[in-house]
Amino acid sequence: MKLEHNFIASLDIGTTNVRCIIYDQSGKIKAQSRSCVQLLITQPGFVEIVAEKLWETVLDVIYNSVGVANIKFEDISCFGLSCQRNSFMLWNKNTGKGYHNFIAWNDIRAEEIVDKENSSIKMKIFRLFSRGLFFITRNPRFLLGSMYKLTNAQIAPRLLWVITHNHQVANDLCKDSVAFGTIDTWLLYKFSGKKLHVTDVSNASATGLFDPFLLTWSYWPFKLFGIPMKMFPNIVDSAGHHFGSVDKSIFGVPIPLCCSIADQSASLIGSGCFRWGDTKVTLGTGTFLNVNTGDQPHTSFNGLYPLVAWKFNEELVYMAEGASNDTGVVLQWAQRLGLLDDLKDSEDMAYSAKDNHGVYFVPAFSGLQAPINDATAATGFIGLKLTTLRPHLIRAILEGIVYRVFHLFQSFYDETDFNPRCIRLDGGVSGNEFVSQILADILNLTVKRSESEEISALGAAFLAGLSSGFWKEKQELYSLMGCYHTFYPRKPYVDYYNEEFGKWCKAVDRFTKWN
Ligand code: ADP
Repeated sequence: MKLEHNFIASLDIGTTNVRCIIYDQSGKIKAQSRSCVQLLITQPGFVEIVAEKLWETVLDVIYNSVGVANIKFEDISCFGLSCQRNSFMLWNKNTGKGYHNFIAWNDIRAEEIVDKENSSIKMKIFRLFSRGLFFITRNPRFLLGSMYKLTNAQIAPRLLWVITHNHQVANDLCKDSVAFGTIDTWLLYKFSGKKLHVTDVSNASATGLFDPFLLTWSYWPFKLFGIPMKMFPNIVDSAGHHFGSVDKSIFGVPIPLCCSIADQSASLIGSGCFRWGDTKVTLGTGTFLNVNTGDQPHTSFNGLYPLVAWKFNEELVYMAEGASNDTGVVLQWAQRLGLLDDLKDSEDMAYSAKDNHGVYFVPAFSGLQAPINDATAATGFIGLKLTTLRPHLIRAILEGIVYRVFHLFQSFYDETDFNPRCIRLDGGVSGNEFVSQILADILNLTVKRSESEEISALGAAFLAGLSSGFWKEKQELYSLMGCYHTFYPRKPYVDYYNEEFGKWCKAVDRFTKWN
């Protein structure tokens, strides 16, 4: 049988891992390769990624997976790309050289700017003005403006930080030679041989500079913060032919790039959450709870973001998102500290303790997001005793991670008629059975965890495949999704963990408004 064009290669650029996975037409993984992202923590709160190092890693995982699959680049029908959102860099349009490293989404260097801008007179006037317009027009766009608050995860504060601290950027901005890009934009720039300067709607909508109603860059935050819009990329659909092909000089053949999508959107697709109300939770470096809200953006009072999930072939799908930044990153910290030898040990250690021995852990290295929304919150254990052992600490950490997810669910329950019966779970931390089980318990919901950890890559492959004709229709994708491990809520633990959550909330009260 001729193998030509029989595979799709999908790239997933996470915060901890970069993966390339090669799928065959039945959705089976033919080969995969993974490498760690080297995060540069230059000082507390500063999280960076070296762009050229990332590019080398991306090429490495692609070459490795093609080698393992024992195929030729000619056999790849197209590429799909799923990317972490909101990590950005500025580069010179003429030389392609970066002015600085990527500043990662969980970097909180701009905290002072966030505070200053949020309490500024101009922001207060803007919110009041938006509220007025909302009362007159009832247009949810203005409701969004009336609650507008900067956070560290948004692009604007970190970008303002760069503009004020990097004199070369400030100079070159006057000459119009600066390009802005999130990681997806930069990789597309590199793959296209420096021809493309685009981002898709899902990546754009996570920046905080995008209008989810008009599907363009939003005029007013640019105006409000004095950010030049000219350096921003064009916004395009998440899949289609507009990405062109990977430049021939890179792999020897021009492979079409058929999809570029944000990681959480990709995992919504990879989990099969195609219908209104379908819900997935990704437990990776951070936690992301996403609910498919169909063709309407969900405007929230509790700090949940209305995002575009994907736009492709006239189909526009929105999702609401709640995020907690500190999930897998906490376990990595515990490992560095010597609390864990191996991440996999966390599960047995947690089970080996009968309970948490009255110890609670608040994971807030980058503050607490919705529904608390406090960037100054402290991280810590509370309830330590002379009899506290390592397993109690690990159990408290894992429980703290789950309580944050429950927190996010409560925000949804508070302000929507959202009532899922089952959720999909993916991401590295979901590999931990203890976490998956107590999530089912506390939520009193069936949790279906994908057997494959690579759901974002699968989602990007699906969209690339639909766009290129590799797969014909969405319906076909359900049969390609693989198996799930199902966790059912255990009745006695539903009340137990809800009670425990109450105690953990008291711990959160102690750790908020710390700085
Ligand atoms: P990302 O997509 O953000 O790069 P991943 O989905 O690859 O993240 O998940 C990586 C995270 O998963 C790491 O931060 C790591 O701490 C965590 N992790 C991996 N294996 C386990 C495990 N068995 N138990 C708990 N956490 C785990």
